[in-house]
This record gives sequence, structure tokens and C-alpha cells, in this order.
Amino acid sequence: MGTENHLQLNVIFLPYLTPGHMNPMVDTARLFAKHGANVTIITTQTNALTIQKAIDSDFNSGYSIKTYVIQFPSSQLGLPDGVENIKDCTTPQMLEKIFHGIMMLQPQIESVFQELQPDCIVSDMFYPWTVESAAKLRIPRLYYYSASSFSSCVYHFIQKHKPHKGLESDSQKVQIPGLLDKIEIAPTEMDEFQRKENDMTILMNVVYASERRSYGTLCNSFYELEGGYEELYKNTIGIKSWSVGPVSAWINKTDEEKANRGNKVDLKEEPYWLNWLNSKQSDSVLYVSFGSLTRLSYAQIVEIAHGLENSGHNFIWVVRKKGEGDGEGEEECFLQDFEARMKESDKGCIIWNWAPQLLILDHPATGGIVTHCGWNSILESVSSGLPMITWPMFAEQFYNEKFLVQVLKIGVSVGAKVNKFWSIVGEDGIVGREELVKAVKTLMGSEESREMRKRAKKLGDAAKRTIEEGGTSYNNLMQLMDELKSLKMSRN
Ligand code: UDP
Repeated sequence: MGTENHLQLNVIFLPYLTPGHMNPMVDTARLFAKHGANVTIITTQTNALTIQKAIDSDFNSGYSIKTYVIQFPSSQLGLPDGVENIKDCTTPQMLEKIFHGIMMLQPQIESVFQELQPDCIVSDMFYPWTVESAAKLRIPRLYYYSASSFSSCVYHFIQKHKPHKGLESDSQKVQIPGLLDKIEIAPTEMDEFQRKENDMTILMNVVYASERRSYGTLCNSFYELEGGYEELYKNTIGIKSWSVGPVSAWINKTDEEKANRGNKVDLKEEPYWLNWLNSKQSDSVLYVSFGSLTRLSYAQIVEIAHGLENSGHNFIWVVRKKGEGDGEGEEECFLQDFEARMKESDKGCIIWNWAPQLLILDHPATGGIVTHCGWNSILESVSSGLPMITWPMFAEQFYNEKFLVQVLKIGVSVGAKVNKFWSIVGEDGIVGREELVKAVKTLMGSEESREMRKRAKKLGDAAKRTIEEGGTSYNNLMQLMDELKSLKMSRN
């Protein structure tokens, strides 16, 4: 045994302030602590509250893990108290302020680095400046990417080749060069900053430059799911990469951990939806969620409600309440009527604002999901062996859809066509109720879906094996931690 096995690693994790980035990074941080590292997660007060239960419980079980709380400049920015996460934004103005507030955290974070003198910084991709901080401390910086290697490759090849330049129309499809599969895409499906240069393009170029200067990439995925793309990613970017997922299934084992993950609200003893799910046959319920950031227009909500009702299938739908002054009156009335009708017919359930997603996906009655194709939701569904109806909205979600439908063949596309953050602002790209009905019928009842379900179950089994001792993700994490210890030794 080398001496490095006796060293304790001090690792700082710096998550971005949105659930899709924070959930997987906190899960990963907890895994590092469970395997012997001394872990610090830097975050702000309100965000710390959403993870405190898990961190306290790990700490009380003897693991070396804590949060380091820094101050979010809410009052300076004129933000309401407690709005410190992108998911809590209700207007574009608020969104801009939060982005600004996150940038203002840099000096506080850098002084924590100086104080704690870590052996490694695991940084979310959206803090590109941590490359310099790590260089100053002469320690490795890991670039944490909370999505798939497939999507990473798509981003890089579109940036490099700009295959959509010169197309006659925005809806014309073009093949993405460089991938292992033949994937075609229309410009309207591309991430907005790739379709057309904007401020985000400038930021992303800085992010990509920081990626190439990192010691390596850490991502929440697994080899059996997309090993070919992991290799392609490493060869394309030219840095090391470790896939250690699915981290949510690896670390959140008990119902309590699943229910509390990323959420400070306690579950009531027997919530209505749980009793309702318990009363349903296995694989008979569709879970409908658009993640933590999507905002739907009223017109789209009406189409979803009718689509679900007309499909005749059981469903649980997570609906975000809109902020005051958001024209919420009409929408709220409509949804309350709908909720009452669904309760009466025993066909559906609405969960308001936030659902304990891991718990619902793992419930035997859940048989499929309608997803916006956020990578975490995809991996969590794959871990539960579930096939999906894919309804991408923005960012890399359309790339994820192609991976699910065309490469893994465990998804049915609802037919969304326009990549747009916060489609609440406009009415373009609305998917009609008939399209949803068609997709639900295909997923929950067709011959085609039987094969899809089998493939999804197989991937679910692979997901379970990869995080067991001796599995690929398990080994990747152990190798990474050993390598970091060797680096620490050589510095000493
Ligand atoms: N999530 C949840 N309950 C909700 C909505 C989201 O637990 O009601 C969690 C979900 O399990 C996932 C994360 O929030 O871990 C959302 O990440 P994802 O990548 O799926 O989408 P995003 O919200 O970033 O668009």
C-alpha cells in the first residue's frame, strides 16, 4: 500500500446556484466524504439550508463534511431576502440580478480558498476564474460538468464547425459533424448562444477556455451509458475525464434522503400524492416535470392539461406557482378546476412547486416520465429504469433528446421545435394537446414501447451495477481520489 492511502484529501466543492448544477455536485461531494476526503461545500445561506439536512446527517455518521456559508449580496442588488438561486427568479430582471450577484461572490470565495488551502477545487463550469485560483494555489482544478459527454461533444463540434452557417432556413436540418452517430439538427433546436452569437457566447468561450486549462473533467454520467462519447470527449478536449454517476442513486439510498434531496421543506407524513400513487398499479403512472427553471406560458399549460386528460392515463404533474403580478389569476383558476376534476376522476394529481422527484421515480407505480430533458432528470429516470417522453425546452436539452430518442432509443419525442429559455415571454413553439396524447399513447401502450421499456430497464440495471464496488463509476471515483492523493504527496 502506498503512503498516499493514509493521506486525507481536502477538497472544496463550488456549486452553481441552481438545482440542476447543485444537486449532482452536492451528491458528488458527499461521495468524496464517504470515501475519506475532508469536504467543504461553499454556498450561500438560503442554498445551504436546502442541503443542510443531508450534510448534518453525513457529519453525524462520522464523515468529514461541512458547508462554508458566504453572503449573497441580495440587499445590494435590491433582491428580496432569500432569493439566492436561479430557480427562485420570477422575472427576467431578477434573473439578471442573480447572475450579477453570483459574479460578485468571487472575492469571498477566493478568500475561503486562501483560508482553507485545499488540495483540489471542484468547480462548476460557470466559475471559469477558479482556474486562476487553483493555479495560484498550485493545486488541480476539476471542471464539473453536470450534463452528458454526448452533449459536451455536440456543443464543441457545433462551436467548431458551425454546421448551420449558410442554411436557407432556421428549420432546415443539418448533420452535426464529428459525432459517433448520425445526428441531424435544425438551428431552432440549438442552444440560443450557438444559434446566434450573443453575450452568452462570449461567456461560454471563456468557460470552454477554462475547461481546456483544467486538470480534468468530473461528470455525472456512466460508461455503460455513453462510454464512446466519454472517449470522444477526452480526445476532443484533450484533458482527463472521470464519469462517476449516477451520483443521485449512489448517495441517496433511504426514502428520507430521496425525499429531502435539494429541498428544505419537510414531507408531510402521508401526502395525498403518495397515498394516491400507492393505490395505483405498477408502471401505470406518468410523472410529468419540466425541471426547476422552465416557465410555461398559460397557453402551454392549458394544452398540457388537456393532453394529459385526453390521454386517459394516470399522471402526477409538478406545476410551478407563478409570482405575483404574473397574470396568475386566470391560470390559477384553470388549474384549480383541473385539479379538482382529476381528483374526482382519480386520474391525476398535481404537486405544486417542488416534487420529491427521486422518491416518485423510484415508486413502483411510476411507469414513465414526461421530461424537459434536463440531464439530472434523465439520469434519475434511467436509474429507475424508466422510458421517457422527451419535451426539451432550452440549453442542451434538445441535444439530450436526440441522445435519448436516436442513440439510446428509450424516448418518444413530443415534437418540440424551438429552443428558448423562459418561453413564458412569447407564445412560439407551443406543443398542442394532440401531440402529447399521441406520445403518451406510444409510451404507455404501444408495441414499440415494450422494447423501449426493456432497454430502459437494462440501462437501469447497468446504472445500479456501475456504482457498486468494482463497477466502472465506482472505480473511476477511487482512481480519481488516489490520483489526487498522489498529486498532494508530490506537492509536499
Ligand atoms: N427537482 C426536484 N423536484 C422538482 C424539480 C426538480 O427534485 O420539482 C430536481 C431534479 O430531481 C433534478 C434537478 O432538480 O435533480 C433538476 O435538474 P435537471 O437537470 O433535470 O433540470 P433543470 O432544472 O436544471 O432544468
